[in-house]
Amino acid sequence: MKTLSPRPSVRTLPAYHPPLAGRNGLRFDFNENTAGCSPRVIERLRQLVPEDLARYPERGAVEANVAEFLGVTAPEVLLTNGVDEAIHLLCQTYLQPGDEAVIVVPTYSMYRIYMMAAGAQVIAVAVGEDFRLSAKNLCESITSKTRLIAIANPNNPTGTVAPQAELLQIARSTPEAAVLVDEAYFEFYGHTMLTQRNDLPNLFVARTFSKAYGLAGLRAGILVGDPGQMLSVRLACSPYNVNAVALACLPTALADHAFIQEYVCEVRDSRAKLEIALTANGVQFWPSQANFVLMRVGATAGDSAAFVERMRRRGILIRDRSSDPGCLGCVRITLGPREHANRLLAALQETFDELGIAPRQNLGASRP
Ligand code: PMP
Repeated sequence: MKTLSPRPSVRTLPAYHPPLAGRNGLRFDFNENTAGCSPRVIERLRQLVPEDLARYPERGAVEANVAEFLGVTAPEVLLTNGVDEAIHLLCQTYLQPGDEAVIVVPTYSMYRIYMMAAGAQVIAVAVGEDFRLSAKNLCESITSKTRLIAIANPNNPTGTVAPQAELLQIARSTPEAAVLVDEAYFEFYGHTMLTQRNDLPNLFVARTFSKAYGLAGLRAGILVGDPGQMLSVRLACSPYNVNAVALACLPTALADHAFIQEYVCEVRDSRAKLEIALTANGVQFWPSQANFVLMRVGATAGDSAAFVERMRRRGILIRDRSSDPGCLGCVRITLGPREHANRLLAALQETFDELGIAPRQNLGASRP
């Protein structure tokens, strides 16, 4: 009997089910802004009138605004439904069955999924214990079939970064492949490839409003690339991919510099406190340039699962990363403002004591 069947590349996709259900408590599990967006954005939302929602959304004016904010031209900018859509669009624009696409693992899960959905073969480049990307290793995995390379910088879930020179070396050595530098955590790091793209039409940079800006629920991201290449990406994109509510709020969110500055400052402070405490207590972690820290709380997947569960009972959600390559026994914890960090450090101490990890170590005492 004839039946409907999805394309083979979709049929064989691994399901991705982030643990989103029932997220009650302090949400340190998805790298969101843990305190919420700028109050000015909420004010802007309250000003919306029926007509704003009755009309199809128009991206153009906001794209020009974002371009000005970033110091690039409007034809270089595409607003997207989160960075997820930017990744999806790059896969749709540059990949076809038989092509190869390269990622450096562990990294953000959606690269692999969208690459596979486009029919490409995903080449996963492994890194060492320190999770540092090596341009040399990555370049060795490039073949004449490579059409897309996706690198998160800072990387998720490790928080590690790649030097600009290495990223440039990769983009220069692969003119036939699109190179995406995903700067979803840019604000917490401060270094960008945006200003390095001049002679590299294959280099794309993505940013998001989901992290520092506290707007993950609005779904808004930015893709920046060579204007000629962006014409092709736009062809693959829905004209209404970013909704009217998001478009209304983005200029307000961008204009509130003080909000972002203050939030980033608090997160960096919280990150430093946590890292100092972990160092003092001999807990292995990877120094992070993002709003989260990856740490090893045991030797097995059972250890990290037990840790996550004990933290959940204390009202704090964190993410088990044991199943990521090289991350056995690891959890990832998102940082927020100082007040959240204080509650986190107290709960961590109790959990360490309870599980017999780092006994007699006092996280609180080692704070600067
Ligand atoms: N890129 C990276 C590296 C991420 O960690 C995430 C979110 N976890 C995303 C992209 C997705 O961002 P957005 O919400 O803009 O789709």
